[in-house]
Amino acid sequence: MKRLIMLLATIMLVMMLSACGNEQITPSTETSVAEIIPESTPEPTPELHIHIWAEADCQTPKTCADCGETEGMALSHDLTEANYQEPPICIVCGEIVGEPLTAGFDKQGIVIDTVLDEVYPFVAICGDDESKTTVGRITFYNLVIEYWCDVEGCGSNDCDHEKVDEWRDISYRIEFDDENAHLYGTQIGYIFTDFYLQDGTNDKFIYSDAEIGNTLNWYGVEYQGCINGQAEIISDGWVNNVLTLSRTKSFKVPTGYDGAVLGLVGFQAESKGLTFNEVLEHQPVFFRLK
Ligand SMILES: [Zn+2]
Ligand SMILES: [Zn+2]
Ligand SMILES: [Zn+2]
Repeated sequence: MKRLIMLLATIMLVMMLSACGNEQITPSTETSVAEIIPESTPEPTPELHIHIWAEADCQTPKTCADCGETEGMALSHDLTEANYQEPPICIVCGEIVGEPLTAGFDKQGIVIDTVLDEVYPFVAICGDDESKTTVGRITFYNLVIEYWCDVEGCGSNDCDHEKVDEWRDISYRIEFDDENAHLYGTQIGYIFTDFYLQDGTNDKFIYSDAEIGNTLNWYGVEYQGCINGQAEIISDGWVNNVLTLSRTKSFKVPTGYDGAVLGLVGFQAESKGLTFNEVLEHQPVFFRLK
């Protein structure tokens, strides 16, 4: 019996040792395998990399799409010149860099908010006594855009030639019926001016028919001979105790032009030869033909 126990103990000891031995052997085997791998696959050398260059643009220098290495500098924008309608634009990348030029009326903080068929107050100096004023009403109505033929000897708006001259017409009606208008009459002056070019210093654009041949700038292109003011009297006189003055004024402009401005003021500004800033002190009512 004692022998049997000894034999069992010996078997168990051998099993434990062999289990123990297995655990010790495994890591050393793995280590020796891992050490071999790097030796059999050499690392790539820098000389073997071929750059895949993406050309420089306005934001990024010439750059390798693979490794990110750069060469030189980013290009600089090649900008168009700003005008009143368009900001500077890069002709290489198309980015907008800046703002359009500031229109003259915006520079002066003059807001033109008159719209068609609304009635606005209109204060005028009396004709027979300039110490008195009369308060009337002004309405702008019927804005018309027409195209006329510029072929010599034709000049029609109903022919087979190409129509190149754009005319914009605006009609207005001013009515007076207060006591001062009855007693002392009234005065009206009008000016043709320009939303973009009238910055308070440009007196070329203030009087009606005096300045034919002015130059406008539309999308950076200069147009000669614009703002040829023409006036048509529709009505002018007392009817049923209301003094009504109605006119249609016409502007020749570049095609699509939205900067022509008509200003009405309650005294004869043109005959007094005032500057634009002097006219402004008399609070003209402006209408923009757009
Ligand atoms: Zn590269
Ligand atoms: Zn650019
Ligand atoms: Zn024609």
